[in-house]
Amino acid sequence: MRLSRLFFQTMRETPSDAEVVSHQLMMRAGLIRKQAAGIYAYMPLGYRVLRKIENIIREEMDAAGAQELLMPALLPAECYRESGRWDVFGEEMFRLRDRNQRDFCLGPTHEEAFTAAVRDCARSYRDLPLILYQIQTKYRDEIRPRFGVMRSREFLMKDAYSFDRDENGLDASYQAMSQAYRRIFKRLGLDCIIIDADTGAMGGSGSQEFMVRSEVGESEIIQCPSCGYAASIEKVSCVAPSGTEAADPLMPEAVATPDARTIREVTAFLGCRETDLAKTILYKADGTLVAAMVRGDREINETKLMAYLGAGSLEMADEESVRSVTGAEIGFAGPVGLPVRIVADLELEHKASLIVGANRTGYHLRHVVPHRDFEADFADIRMIAGDDPCPCCGAELAFGRGIEVGHIFKLGTKYSEALGCSYLDETGKAHPMVMGCYGIGVSRAMAAIIEQHHDENGILWPMSVAPWQVIIVPVNVLDEKQAQTAEYLYQELKKHHVEVLLDDRNERAGVKFKDADLIGIPIRINVGKKALEGLVEFKLRHEDSASALPVESAVGAVL
Ligand code: ATP
Ligand code: MG
Ligand code: MG
Ligand code: MG
Repeated sequence: MRLSRLFFQTMRETPSDAEVVSHQLMMRAGLIRKQAAGIYAYMPLGYRVLRKIENIIREEMDAAGAQELLMPALLPAECYRESGRWDVFGEEMFRLRDRNQRDFCLGPTHEEAFTAAVRDCARSYRDLPLILYQIQTKYRDEIRPRFGVMRSREFLMKDAYSFDRDENGLDASYQAMSQAYRRIFKRLGLDCIIIDADTGAMGGSGSQEFMVRSEVGESEIIQCPSCGYAASIEKVSCVAPSGTEAADPLMPEAVATPDARTIREVTAFLGCRETDLAKTILYKADGTLVAAMVRGDREINETKLMAYLGAGSLEMADEESVRSVTGAEIGFAGPVGLPVRIVADLELEHKASLIVGANRTGYHLRHVVPHRDFEADFADIRMIAGDDPCPCCGAELAFGRGIEVGHIFKLGTKYSEALGCSYLDETGKAHPMVMGCYGIGVSRAMAAIIEQHHDENGILWPMSVAPWQVIIVPVNVLDEKQAQTAEYLYQELKKHHVEVLLDDRNERAGVKFKDADLIGIPIRINVGKKALEGLVEFKLRHEDSASALPVESAVGAVL
């Protein structure tokens, strides 16, 4: 490709609304173009990278035995009604009506569509196991779209769904996907850790997230330096050790729901919707839900909660008072025990209600995550249990941040039961299929790669996803020898199937070098005055110095 013909534009200035490096560089390098909040177009340069990421994912999914298909993005409400998620998704779901007033949505995730397809096609145990996937645009009306394509409202996701006859089958499919994910993220050049995630409102028996270590990540990770255990913060707050007492009479507003395990069961028990729940739910140490407070007046609930915890004076806290209690451990002494530490986001801009993270023997308060409130609530205040011991070995835990690029989940029979997706065994008896789901944020991965691969001059694409592998820069295109040499190298590299850019623009060398660095091409070949002596300069993007090479060896050096 000749750069003079490429539809692209770089920017010297950093756009004011771009807070994180990946967003800044994607805008400056002209990879993406903002259409509306959280909605981006991919320009030719950016789209090449996106497709390379897609293809790596595709190769590994195919190698793991998964089959690709494509579902519609525009989906009728029916199957989401069958699963109960038409209501659960709340405002995060983009909804619309057709001309006949029928309800539709733009798919935020496709469990229902895949389950319905398998229900209608696969009937026998012989059809299983089955893993299907797609790479598709997803729509979520995020409360706070931000960081460019990292948290956007229209984004590309690879989502896979496994169908098995039993838990053992599910374990095998889950393992296969987990291994494929490791290979994918390695090939993408991403340094990931795999953490135990909370199965939360989704139910299910197990879940892990693939987290790219990054200070700008929106997920908080807990890691044990001693045994290597890693988990999301929500997970730890519900698995902290010990105790199995009943709901506490000191907490009159708490509703005991002794048998309820999932949020759905709690809402059924209380006769309310998920979004009616206050953010506070009482868990037993084994993760069993024992009580939930219904949203009435949230402040009143929280005040009661404080009283319950013996910390009556903390009702509403502005930034300053939150800060004044951070760092120091707050003794929620009273009758209830363990200290609690509250970690506030110091970038807090507005008043936030002080949410209490509490931990006492047998009871663990944690956030419920109604889709509507999650972003706003969690961005303000984070809470962690007092002593922060590792649930595996008891050592003190360390905290970090990560970008969730992948998520694998054992769903069990939640969707297959709701939608009637069953198979017949050898004796002709019907059983619900046991399912798993596996997501990768394709566009988010692109941003995450930049977060981990950049310097002050721009992006450093790993070779595997670079839009072009080599850029040839004639220092002065009006110089005949330089132009000829550059053209010769360009043709030779193309012959060898190297993806090569020729910067044939009549621009100053400095401008061209800056652009090459900004867009992150891994190998640069400068063709300058020394072309007369048959020499060119060979420079790797991640190294400072260039080396002189005879023209004839330059092609070999690339290959
Ligand atoms: P998050 O916790 O960041 O909101 P999620 O847990 O809601 O993500 P999943 O439902 O697990 O997301 O979706 C699978 C993957 O899709 C995520 O691991 C993430 O990489 C990606 N993803 C989710 N939401 C977005 C978004 N708004 N923009 C870009 N990628 C996203
Ligand atoms: Mg989300
Ligand atoms: Mg998540
Ligand atoms: Mg997730």
